[in-house]
Amino acid sequence: MPDTDSTLIDGRALAAEVREEVQQAVAEHLDAGPRPPALRVILANDSAASASYVRGKEKAAAEAGIDAETLRFDPEEVTEDELLGTLARLNSDDEVDGILVQLPLPDRIDEEKVIQAIAPAKDVDGFHPQNTGRLMTGADGFVPATPAGIMEMLRRSEVDIEGAHAVIVGRSNLVGRPLANLLLHRDANATVTVCHSRTRALGQHTRTADILVSAVGRAGLISGDMVKAGACVIDVGINRVDDDTRERGYRLVGDVDFDAARKRASQITPVPGGVGPMTIAMLLKNTLKAAVGRLSERET
Ligand code: NAD
Repeated sequence: MPDTDSTLIDGRALAAEVREEVQQAVAEHLDAGPRPPALRVILANDSAASASYVRGKEKAAAEAGIDAETLRFDPEEVTEDELLGTLARLNSDDEVDGILVQLPLPDRIDEEKVIQAIAPAKDVDGFHPQNTGRLMTGADGFVPATPAGIMEMLRRSEVDIEGAHAVIVGRSNLVGRPLANLLLHRDANATVTVCHSRTRALGQHTRTADILVSAVGRAGLISGDMVKAGACVIDVGINRVDDDTRERGYRLVGDVDFDAARKRASQITPVPGGVGPMTIAMLLKNTLKAAVGRLSERET
């Protein structure tokens, strides 16, 4: 067992690297094309978390030279037809490269139907079934930003993925499932186990992980003794825990007992400052990819 604390994987620093690369590539794209990459975000809920993510995306996009605009809909009033109509308009608008629908949508709206109405070539969130299918087979397409960001973090932190046993806790379409696919691809070659809410004896699985990823949303789920000595730990969870010492009355933590896990792991991501910043950086990368792809299509 390492007797010193593990190395922190600094998501903010890695995300800054990616954002700078995107900014440079956007400048090159502008030399070749008529306008900056354009992203349109549809926001139709009034959750504080979504509002904060969308603000973060707008700010990061502006810094990278991407033209981002949010179309806001009243969650009480908006209809499915209105959203489908807006998507049809954005799909055929040549001035728009990337489209993102901030989830969740109001209960009366069929989320699946809305996601399937996004043109796959503009689906920078990678949730359209065509992009999901491409990810399954290893074909090029849009990969959801969080799992793409995790792969980028592993690679930039020189984690040995080839032949490693990766254990993912959480099987959502947003994180666990796409990440399992990425880790299985021939450019990664991990052996992958996916655990979920019905997994028996979770610790027996996590203790065999060379790379342990938790994407559940439950503080303290992964205790220190569930981490194999020398493992790389990626904590995707974002949880609020009460904290009277903070002005806002809470602080954010991940799923992993950070202090205990840090003593066993070789590398570990903090929360906040780990996977979160990387997610936004990868969305910018996907938007650039959409713009470059569409420009080269127009030229051929
Ligand atoms: P989700 O609710 O869709 O999925 C949670 C998964 O956890 C499910 O697959 C479920 O089977 C599994 N699970 C639940 N209880 C479990 C248990 N006791 N043991 C093992 N598995 C269990 O959530 P999600 O959208 O995938 O998000 C997961 C967490 O990651 C949340 O905290 C979310 O806020 C966070 N998240 C962070 C980022 C980021 O950028 N940092 C992005 C996406 C999600």
